[in-house]
Amino acid sequence: MRLEGKVAVVTGGASGIGRAMGVAFAAEGARVVVADRDEAKGSSVAEEIRGLFVHVDVTSSKSSDAMAEQVFGKFGRIDILANNVGVRVVKPFLEHTDADWDVMISTNLTGPFLCSRAVVPFMQRAGSGRIINTASIASFVGRPDRVAYVAAKAGLLGMTRAMAIDLGRMGITVNALAPGSINSPMNAEHAADEEHDWGKETPVGRWGRAEDVANAAVFLALDESSYITGAEIKVDGGWVSTKARAG
Ligand code: NAD
Repeated sequence: MRLEGKVAVVTGGASGIGRAMGVAFAAEGARVVVADRDEAKGSSVAEEIRGLFVHVDVTSSKSSDAMAEQVFGKFGRIDILANNVGVRVVKPFLEHTDADWDVMISTNLTGPFLCSRAVVPFMQRAGSGRIINTASIASFVGRPDRVAYVAAKAGLLGMTRAMAIDLGRMGITVNALAPGSINSPMNAEHAADEEHDWGKETPVGRWGRAEDVANAAVFLALDESSYITGAEIKVDGGWVSTKARAG
């Protein structure tokens, strides 16, 4: 019960990695807010973990502000914000439309900014807080057919570092998690591809699980992690290490 008494907001908490974060935070005693645009799935996860569902569209400042107000109104505190919403467009460079570009940036980069800006005043008042951004291995290396996704996720790492500087003296840490291929709904097709087993390319020899990322999120959420900020933790079974070259 290392998060007893804390209130944790997980955006994108209705599915995949966000759902696993909610389950893990709740198992550690936190009161969890599942903040998502999918009301049916989000409410069902909230019920499962005895949390609260709050509707949010992270691409809207009005909706993000309303979400933060609602959570604070209900619990009187917000200790942890997991900016986990993310969507992915996979198509060749020349087929990326204006709308594809906009949705990648507004959801994966602007979204974490808007939710953080909405929540930080409450953390600042309390003198402490934890912001955990779900980045990606695509923050470190290029990936084929994902130009806008890679751009947004690389930007999210830069934002994480800049926010760590701006918010450090408020007692708020800001860190990023960079999952590799995790066997979540986002990757259902990819995981079922028998010709190319991504898991075998990783040093640990398996696909990632949503729980692998959630466990790292719990670590960053703890009081004991107060000296870790502006950092990124790869949860990728070592995959990026196989791509790094010296010189
Ligand atoms: P997922 O598709 O299972 O869940 C995403 C959730 O976000 C859904 O519940 C969806 O309703 C919600 N959502 C989407 N747009 C929203 C919006 N505008 N406002 C509110 N909610 C919205 O995804 P996942 O696989 O669990 O991925 C979670 C995060 O992890 C994403 O940021 C993703 O980019 C990142 N990631 C995933 C993988 C992977 O292998 N699955 C790898 C690297 C990074």
